[in-house]
Amino acid sequence: MGQIQLNQVTKSFGAVEVIPPLDLTIEDGEFCVFVGPSGCGKSTLLRLIAGLEDVTSGHIAIDGNDATMTPPAKRGLAMVFQSYALYPHMSVRKNIAFPMKMAKLPEDEQKRRIDAAAQALNLTDYLDRRPGQLSGGQRQRVAIGRAIVREPSAFLFDEPLSNLDAALRVGMRLEISELHERLKTTMIYVTHDQVEAMTMADKIVVLQAGLIEQVGSPLDLYHTPRNKFVAGFIGSPK
Ligand code: ADP
Ligand code: MG
Repeated sequence: MGQIQLNQVTKSFGAVEVIPPLDLTIEDGEFCVFVGPSGCGKSTLLRLIAGLEDVTSGHIAIDGNDATMTPPAKRGLAMVFQSYALYPHMSVRKNIAFPMKMAKLPEDEQKRRIDAAAQALNLTDYLDRRPGQLSGGQRQRVAIGRAIVREPSAFLFDEPLSNLDAALRVGMRLEISELHERLKTTMIYVTHDQVEAMTMADKIVVLQAGLIEQVGSPLDLYHTPRNKFVAGFIGSPK
């Protein structure tokens, strides 16, 4: 289960409203990409969904239940940070185990989940290494592994590939897409990269200055952009 609904959600920092009233539904199992230029509010929106920021007004529901006031750890969502958020002094195994240790999961269950995540992410041979002994792509997989073991109802990615080089980024895109195919868990993926949006999304949400310009499948947006901004941003011929 992983349906997420935003109902008239707004966010202001001081007197500045960065998210005007916004309605959006992300269906269970969907791969939803938030795309838009830097500063348009993508991270803020993701952090509101994660509960890392409080909404100024409006409601957020997860699987039909109001979660507006639910603390982040109780929302059942997992945020994937960039790979540099790993603990450098801990082994891969300990990095992946960390959220389960915090949640005081039994040791045998921790081991089962680590093994499953390592297998899914091709990290089985690297569990005893430290992040500094891994490639950028492997480190990013560890960051994803740390999210997987929480068995979340949705994964929230904030520009996870932005500090990888171009060649590695293409490979990781495919890996994340394959992971989505396999797990069929809701994923919300923030990027300013149109190519990532077009190749990975079931549904794209195009944002500009906190406003949703258009929501649709990659093909919808390409063939019937609602305005020049969307057309220009998506690279549509229109
Ligand atoms: P994006 O992720 O699309 O680049 P952000 O969500 O980070 O955009 O930022 C959206 C707007 O909100 C920007 O104008 C940014 O300066 C502002 N903003 C974000 N976080 C804060 C904060 N904690 N305090 C004040 N302004 C913020
Ligand atoms: Mg951002």
